[in-house]
Amino acid sequence: MSIASYFSRTVAPPLFRLMKIDIFHYRRWLLETEKWSPEKRDKWRLERLGDIIEHCWDHVPFYKMLWENYGVKIRRPRHFNELNHFPIVTRDMIRDNRDQLIPDNIEKIPHKADSTGGTTGSPLKYFHDLKLHALRYGYVLIGWEFAGYHFGDDVCYIAGGSLIAENRSLRNRARSWLERGHGVSCVGMNMDVALKCHQMILKFKPTVIHGYPSMIAEFCNIKDHFHPGPYDDLKAVITTAEMLHPHYRKQIEDNLCVPVFDHYGFNDGGLLSYECIQHSGYHYNDLESVVEVIDPDAHGTGRLAVTNLWNHSMPFIRYENGDLVTLNSEPCSCGRIYPLIGNVFGRSGDILRFANGNTLGTPGLTLIFKEMPIDGWQVVQKGLNNIEVRIKTNHEINPYDIAYIKKVIHLHASADVDVHVVRVEELSLTSRGKLKPVFVEMNQ
Ligand SMILES: [Zn+2]
Repeated sequence: MSIASYFSRTVAPPLFRLMKIDIFHYRRWLLETEKWSPEKRDKWRLERLGDIIEHCWDHVPFYKMLWENYGVKIRRPRHFNELNHFPIVTRDMIRDNRDQLIPDNIEKIPHKADSTGGTTGSPLKYFHDLKLHALRYGYVLIGWEFAGYHFGDDVCYIAGGSLIAENRSLRNRARSWLERGHGVSCVGMNMDVALKCHQMILKFKPTVIHGYPSMIAEFCNIKDHFHPGPYDDLKAVITTAEMLHPHYRKQIEDNLCVPVFDHYGFNDGGLLSYECIQHSGYHYNDLESVVEVIDPDAHGTGRLAVTNLWNHSMPFIRYENGDLVTLNSEPCSCGRIYPLIGNVFGRSGDILRFANGNTLGTPGLTLIFKEMPIDGWQVVQKGLNNIEVRIKTNHEINPYDIAYIKKVIHLHASADVDVHVVRVEELSLTSRGKLKPVFVEMNQ
């Protein structure tokens, strides 16, 4: 262990406590709760659910009005199924009614302001209770421990602006230093950026590389020219923020000779989930949120809705973030108590509507490209019967793949749709630097 890591492990716990973000306390608490029986867990969760719903009735004008309009009478659910009586809340509803979502006793709730660019490119400003903030970081430590990380280990970030802010405050810099986090900001990857990443990894000898799968895969691709081998102390790569395509996972694992652990989560509503060594889904903290799948299809895939059990400063009750997921009903073979989200389809995109009334959504389109050896894709609707399919790849697109794309779209949308498949150097990003895989770009 380096002196810096030792120092970080010694100094961080009291400092975080001083900042009123006692992540180590919540990590310990979560480890304790892992020993609870499933019955005790559910009893605790139901109690918390009652507390937060009662808080909304008493202090949050938005929910009181919404629920009264829906004829909801329940103050404290007796079972999780009773959540069905409460209406779903979308990001647009949260954004449009933000002031009404702030409780009338906000001054009594220690909280912090936060914001997200959102996978749909629609930003949202919200509040998090400091206790929730600390709990979430406590669970981050646990999730990262699945991959072999321990607090104080060096971490190298290969990610864009949403993980590494360009204009960072002194507090944030101090925190990165404490957490031994080092980063190269790379919304795009090229030889210059790859060299910087390589130098960073040689210098800090990280246990974990964390970042966007596409960027890390591309980094591996480029660094192969000047450093074909793995890195000595690296134990794992933890990916985040976009779909981990199977060929990215393979490329990274082949090149760096360590396993990739994917992460799925979102801040606003409050969900964090991590792959364990079984890679059979994402373990989420069920003591943070109640997770529901709305209107599941025959395969169990439906819209994700989350009810956060902690956030009094801006409650999220049955909050739908736009992603489609499945839940695994069986426990993981690793033996961990945290339940599993099985699959996450897409990271939200527009629904495409055609002249004949048919629609195409992101998860269906995602399946088209599942097996194609490409670096990325984007489907852009340019007109009522006009689609541009952008493929990012460093080789010619296989004519069979082009024919297959057209065939599937014609089959599911309309035979009248003009489909143009084009190869691009870069896919377009939203103003917040996120990739939106499916969107409409029509002149009104
Ligand atoms: Zn597991």
